[in-house]
Amino acid sequence: MTAYRKAADVAKIGDDLVANEPDHAHLRGVRIEYLFRDKPATHGGRIVLGSARRVGGMGAVLGDLKRHAGNVTESPRPLFVIEVPETIWQVLDDDKRRALVDHELMHCRATRDEDTGEHVLKIRPHDFEEFAAILRRHGLWTTAAQNAGGAAAEQLALAIDDVIAGAEQLIGDDPGDGEV
Ligand SMILES: [Zn+2]
Repeated sequence: MTAYRKAADVAKIGDDLVANEPDHAHLRGVRIEYLFRDKPATHGGRIVLGSARRVGGMGAVLGDLKRHAGNVTESPRPLFVIEVPETIWQVLDDDKRRALVDHELMHCRATRDEDTGEHVLKIRPHDFEEFAAILRRHGLWTTAAQNAGGAAAEQLALAIDDVIAGAEQLIGDDPGDGEV
């Protein structure tokens, strides 16, 4: 059975990214919980380095019992839960920890309901898909082709090389399917 505990170290990086990274500005004011799981999950034979999911309905009520002093009838605010295996976290350096939390936050999308003003939370899929073997052989060729000679593309390609060389596993995760 998997054990979970609050991940203050992950939350610290997440809070900083939400406060300072313009890509995550829409998440300000949205409840995000960060959890360590004691061992990594696997998905399709790959180790899952992290996951982001939306929790709504009954899950949100149960997660919010303390705040509402046990009153389960109040309509619950949905939240995001980002979970990271603690064993993976311990072997990542600061840059990769930040990259991992940044990645998971990119899966979290919040918009406002025009009528109620309430946040509407959704999980966003990756906007870039590629085979690990192609990345190994050619680097980030699509990005490089789009921004020929661009420093950003070069930096990204280096970062991906680093991840592949270091972990020998491409970052894989399971964004979940919304409600838990
Ligand atoms: Zn992902």
